[in-house]
Amino acid sequence: MVVNLLGFDLDGLTAFCQGLGEKRFRAVQLCRWIHQKGESDFEQMSDLAKSLRTKLAGQACVRALPLVTEQVSSDGTIKWLFDVGDGNAVETVFIPEADRGTLCVSSQAGCAVGCRFCSTGHQGFSRNLGTAEIVAQLWFAEHRLRRHLKLPLGERAVDNVVMMGMGEPLQNYAALIPALRTMLDDHAYGLSRRRVTVSTSGVVPMIDRLREDCPVALAVSLHAPNNVLRDELVPMNRKYPLADLMAACARYLDAAPRDFITFEYCMLDGVNDSPEQASELVRLVRGQGPESSVVVPCKLNLIPFNPFPASGLQRSPEHRVQAFARVLLDAGIVTTVRKTRGGDIDAACGQLAGEVLDRTDAATRMTRAPIRIQPLPAETPR
Ligand code: SF4
Repeated sequence: MVVNLLGFDLDGLTAFCQGLGEKRFRAVQLCRWIHQKGESDFEQMSDLAKSLRTKLAGQACVRALPLVTEQVSSDGTIKWLFDVGDGNAVETVFIPEADRGTLCVSSQAGCAVGCRFCSTGHQGFSRNLGTAEIVAQLWFAEHRLRRHLKLPLGERAVDNVVMMGMGEPLQNYAALIPALRTMLDDHAYGLSRRRVTVSTSGVVPMIDRLREDCPVALAVSLHAPNNVLRDELVPMNRKYPLADLMAACARYLDAAPRDFITFEYCMLDGVNDSPEQASELVRLVRGQGPESSVVVPCKLNLIPFNPFPASGLQRSPEHRVQAFARVLLDAGIVTTVRKTRGGDIDAACGQLAGEVLDRTDAATRMTRAPIRIQPLPAETPR
């Protein structure tokens, strides 16, 4: 069987090379050729012994994902659709900014979590991506952009990776960890731990494992300040409610490369965007609410919802977003409102859909129930 070397971190490459009777330094050379220089042809790897190149040619390859489409937004955002076989395709998005280039990477074909406001969730779930398929997204983007932008050797195009594309990365843990290690390895992409972010809907036991195995920046899709509403918006909450999630976030900070957790909060008109809910959110992260007694140092990232027909939800008007943000800022919580990028090519947050051969009947599950909004406490007459 021919092995795709994009699926190995440096330890994996070392074991593979040792299996060929080669020493570790050969794995380091190979790693640099593949990830730093973007080379896929073993014959071009000029400092590898001819005998090794011959062995590699028979047993290994460096294989990119077949590209289906490339779309470029008017704001410079680029979205790639990659074929991952059996009728499935995943999306990867590059977001250029003045001071950095961010790549949003997918971890699964579809997603089984089923968040109500997420286009991927509505498509259901087909399968996990392998490590090679995750790393291939970065490998392709980095080297295509370097060539396109004519960057000098050593200068990178992607210096920030967010695991926020299609899928729940912590439900594909075994493939995720070697992919993260490759992103961080100085012989590969050499990204800072602070510049690699795993975003999760709150898979509590795996947050703890990530802290042990490969602590990178953590973003948590929160989207609601209480369990009743979060159960509706992020079904993962029924398994791991806010008390467990907040405690896991606090534990994560012991090992995290940043001293805060980023909470993502998608602003849904009339659902989770009132000033009272903002106050409830403040109490939640301060450990002063009924849901959790744990303080979690955090940043709040408010995300304008990108509507799609099946969701039945609307974007919060700007004035409600600002009023919500004001409550958080007045409470001393660092709060940003995410700029929508790539909206004209459906590359914005929550819009990634790819093509998914659903095995979970998500469309039926997700359209059946209206969202129950917890009634606010009656106002006391003055
Ligand atoms: S928001 Fe993330 S976890 Fe939720 S359905 Fe979408 S991809 Fe899955």
